Amino acid sequence: MRTKTPPTPPSRITGAAPDPAALLPELPCALVAWFTKTARDLPWRHTKDAYRIWVSEVMLQQTQVRTVIGYFRKFLDLFPTLADLAAAPEEKVLRAWEGLGYYRRARGLHASAKLLVKQGHANLPPDPELLATLPGMGEYTRNAVLSQAHGLPLPIIEANSQRVLCRILGVQEDPARGPVKKWLWHAAAKLVCTRDPGAYNQALMELGALVCSPQKPACLVCPARPWCAAAASGAPEALPLKTARPTITQVTEVCLALRTGEGPATRWLLVRRPDTASRWAGLWEFPHQPVPDDSTPEATLEEMVQGLLGKSAKPAIRHAGIIQHAITRYQVSMRVELGTLKTPRTPALSEHDASAWLATPEIASLPLSAPQRRVWNLVAQVGPV
Ligand code: SF4
Repeated sequence: MRTKTPPTPPSRITGAAPDPAALLPELPCALVAWFTKTARDLPWRHTKDAYRIWVSEVMLQQTQVRTVIGYFRKFLDLFPTLADLAAAPEEKVLRAWEGLGYYRRARGLHASAKLLVKQGHANLPPDPELLATLPGMGEYTRNAVLSQAHGLPLPIIEANSQRVLCRILGVQEDPARGPVKKWLWHAAAKLVCTRDPGAYNQALMELGALVCSPQKPACLVCPARPWCAAAASGAPEALPLKTARPTITQVTEVCLALRTGEGPATRWLLVRRPDTASRWAGLWEFPHQPVPDDSTPEATLEEMVQGLLGKSAKPAIRHAGIIQHAITRYQVSMRVELGTLKTPRTPALSEHDASAWLATPEIASLPLSAPQRRVWNLVAQVGPV
């Protein structure tokens, strides 16, 4: 389905990897039989509903299964059908997603649901070309949904299945490289079990999650062992090959939680990230910025206060604590400062597209990033300065 002309195996694969067709039909059948017997009982495995499977697949990207279970149930309670999701306001969708991270996934789901409903669909149709046009719908997600919900014989490659296939096929090159990845997709397509492609694809992923782990794969209990090149080599954990990871960079940020008023009249200053932001687009947050190498947290805070509120603003400041969090290759240490102003001012906005002085209960229903929710939990416990 993916390619009309089979890609040439990269040179270092040619001698090592068996022709995927030589593994048919024994390997796919063995994986499906193993999966049928041992699959974990997960909520999205009780349905063939394409919408529900789609939601689970999008949530499972970059997120662990045990985290997704609760979010999946809550999300479907709020938006039980494609039409319910399409009709919901974006802030409600982002709020339901809060804590899962990678908010582009939620935006993609929401935008796709709106498009499908507008086109007259009550669910995701068994149409690979149409689904490929939806925002945020990658080849993996599309094929996972169509194979599980509609039984289409489409291959999948994600982290777990990639590791399993690299080991079974003895791929001696980094699968992150374009030609290697292309060949793996081709091999995966050859190996799809046409009798039950959904179970086969899930079996590959389940095998990677439970048996063929990155370190210490449990080859002795693995249903793929009779066909596995890596197990035969005696060093299965040596595959897949990896290029060096980028080093972690430490970053210090200052975050200002500014409040005014007292008791029920307390208001907090929050700003909204633009829809075009590369990260956390459209979410609300307390103003924060990195401390440059040639500055200090105190000087950065002063500069931020003046930039937001003008030189005459002199909020009383109290240090509230430090929040540590990681984003891609950055380890961020965020110093949270609690400021109190006598009267609210309209802030100057540079990187944000809106601001608001909000009451405490309003913040509970706003979509915030996970680090910003932790900032809120921290400052909400500290009394006025
Ligand atoms: S035999 Fe070992 S290396 Fe091969 S797929 Fe199974 S667990 Fe992974």
